[in-house]
Amino acid sequence: MDRSGEVFDRIRFVLVETTHPGNVGAVARAMKTMGLNRLHLVNPKVLPDAEAIARAAGADDLLAAVQVHGDLVDALRGCRLVVGSSARLRTVEWPSLEPADCARRLLAEAGEGEVALVLGRERSGLTNDELARCHFLVHIPTNPAFRSLNLASAAQIFAYELRRTWRTATGQHDKETERDPAPAEAMEGFYAHLAQTMADTGFSDPAQSQKLLRRLRRLFNRARPDRVELNILRGILSAAQGKKSPERFHKINPSRSPPGRDPSTASGGNARGNSKE
Ligand code: SAH
Repeated sequence: MDRSGEVFDRIRFVLVETTHPGNVGAVARAMKTMGLNRLHLVNPKVLPDAEAIARAAGADDLLAAVQVHGDLVDALRGCRLVVGSSARLRTVEWPSLEPADCARRLLAEAGEGEVALVLGRERSGLTNDELARCHFLVHIPTNPAFRSLNLASAAQIFAYELRRTWRTATGQHDKETERDPAPAEAMEGFYAHLAQTMADTGFSDPAQSQKLLRRLRRLFNRARPDRVELNILRGILSAAQGKKSPERFHKINPSRSPPGRDPSTASGGNARGNSKE
């Protein structure tokens, strides 16, 4: 589940006088992939059209909800923090941020109220007057001999930085990759089963295998298996102990019976097959 909504709903991307509707669509797509959805346009040369929808590739809900303004001041109404993006490093000193700091600040302030990231015209970017309406400038470090990204590519980087920063700050990364390791008692049950199987199969002498078992504990503790993985391992141990028969598969799938045997007479199988896993 995506819990980014609350803060992300207060972050708007403002595109100033965009010329190509395709770019508006591509920005919508860039935003939606990262969980952002508030797109504002200032004096767009053309309103979102079929090309914009095509380039949005499924993010047309953002285009349908787009807010169009006659000027930048109107588009920034209610915003407590405004960051303007620029492909150029300006001659006039203005507080500037790298994309990661920009994301941190926007997220921190979005916890308190509305914030905006402003993107400029394809040809000429933002004017000095427009930049002067921003608290900070943000510049994506690029090749000094070729600084300018496509509008939607820049939007993608800003949107990704917002998502990445939010995930780190809220521990989402850990939550998404976390598994549920089997609890201690399940591990003990497994180790007992393992020891018994080693004895039953003649692999080791129970009286002599304490050190070996400690090594195996170390191995499985390192892997921290979850319950499903533990069930698989225990299923293999049961099979090694002779508590499962290959015939159980042929009973439910006659076409897999070994050559020369009549599947209808196969017996001793477990009709559930390996469905448990
Ligand atoms: N020739 C223009 C480039 C505009 S690119 C100029 O010199 O400003 C269109 C928009 O994409 C820019 O206004 C800015 O919002 C964004 N953008 C492109 N490259 C960028 C970069 N390296 N850093 C920050 N924003 C960038």
